Amino acid sequence: MPPSSPHAGMARTAVVFAQLVVAGKHHGIRPFVVPLNDESGAMSRGVSCTLFPGRPGAKAIDHSSTSFTNVPLPAGALLGRMSGSLEDERWAFLHAIHRVTVGTLCLSTSNATVLRVSGCIAGRYSAQRRVGAPKAVPIISFSTQHGPIARILAHAVVFDNWALESTQMFMASLGKLDMLNVIGGVYKATVLSYTQKALSDLVDRCGWQGLYAHNQISELWLAEKGNSIAEGDFVVLCIRLTSEILLGRYAPPKARDAQSLLARHETGVWEEARQIFASLKGGHRGPEFNARILPLSLPLVQATGQRMAYEAAKYALVHGSAHGLTMTPQVLDLFECTCIMEDPSWYVENGIMSRQELLNRNVNAVENMLPLLGEMINDEAVDAFIVAPMVKEDRLASFFSSLPSFHGLGADIIRAKL
Ligand SMILES: Cc1cc2nc3c(=O)[nH]c(=O)nc-3n(C[C@H](O)[C@H](O)[C@H](O)COP(=O)(O)OP(=O)(O)OC[C@H]3O[C@@H](n4cnc5c(N)ncnc54)[C@H](O)[C@@H]3O)c2cc1C
Repeated sequence: MPPSSPHAGMARTAVVFAQLVVAGKHHGIRPFVVPLNDESGAMSRGVSCTLFPGRPGAKAIDHSSTSFTNVPLPAGALLGRMSGSLEDERWAFLHAIHRVTVGTLCLSTSNATVLRVSGCIAGRYSAQRRVGAPKAVPIISFSTQHGPIARILAHAVVFDNWALESTQMFMASLGKLDMLNVIGGVYKATVLSYTQKALSDLVDRCGWQGLYAHNQISELWLAEKGNSIAEGDFVVLCIRLTSEILLGRYAPPKARDAQSLLARHETGVWEEARQIFASLKGGHRGPEFNARILPLSLPLVQATGQRMAYEAAKYALVHGSAHGLTMTPQVLDLFECTCIMEDPSWYVENGIMSRQELLNRNVNAVENMLPLLGEMINDEAVDAFIVAPMVKEDRLASFFSSLPSFHGLGADIIRAKL
């Protein structure tokens, strides 16, 4: 996938990981600096590149498959030292790839902004689009429309504050590779799995216009889908985190308030997984683990992530946050309710709330957000990032007039209508 073609008209260089063999002795997988091509476009000796077709939803980048055959390199191309023991080699490899974990967290933080921009686009569209006769009403008046938009904007605020806290925790844990994997992996899995589901729903909430890249939501959704796979697919990340946590190799940061609803849920579902694990034959590489624990790994990591996100947001609410989007009690409440509604049976089965109480709480959380929604949707800070024609009648009209059109004799010119 790395963009390695001569398309860009500039010299490109890669860090390539390959087995180092000196005089027949293997020294582990090592990073090498390898020039791929020069500014004239000529590929380096022994380097080949196959350019992939355009990827839907992504702004043009020349994703390619790159291969290497007997590439001559100077000794200085090897990054890091040559060392003796197997343990040193393992450490050198983990040290060389430690930036992947930085990318896991860093790339995923863009989802908070993507949710915010998408929520504002869908909100502005829904406030203008009217249906019904004889008295048309804006579609945002329907709970099936304002509900998803309010939830997405609430998640954007929570994930934004959690991103700041995760970054601080990450910096404070430098050198502790396991903890860095937990912080980055839990953030990525929780935020990306929510964003993927929520934006897929939001595309539908904007009708046919939601399908088009020029209205941004579907494009942002697919761009983040790429991020969910790059730097390690998030399901595989969850499988590794779940296996190692169940094996007791490390643990995520402890809950600050063990009695909060999301913390109780987190403890409950992990306890359930521990009991299943204890009953299995064949260990963590056996077929029973594959059948019974692997499908739980994403929801388990998400349960931890939702609790951590809630705590970061609550901290920002109580102490105020100098950076990040402003937290309100309504936002925090709607975030919590949305997380609870992802696993309602656990709360009912454990006698915490009846099904009816859960449904009522959820309705109240959405309704309490409504007085804030107009301001959040029309947030001026987001204006510069919104180019979607569907958010305004005049913008849509000028977009329509820029499209090729074909008229028969006496035909009316089609006018754009929201
Ligand atoms: C936008 C983008 C940019 C990229 N840039 C780069 C780059 O610069 N350099 C680079 O080297 N690579 C790059 N990649 C490649 C990326 O690292 C891989 O796509 C990613 O690691 C997943 O591997 P894969 O695509 O081979 O998927 P696969 O491994 O084939 O995964 C397919 C499915 O199999 C499942 N699966 C795989 N392994 C397991 C397992 N052990 N247990 C259970 N399920 C499993 C996955 O969950 C997934 O559902 C990029 C990818 C993308 C999307």
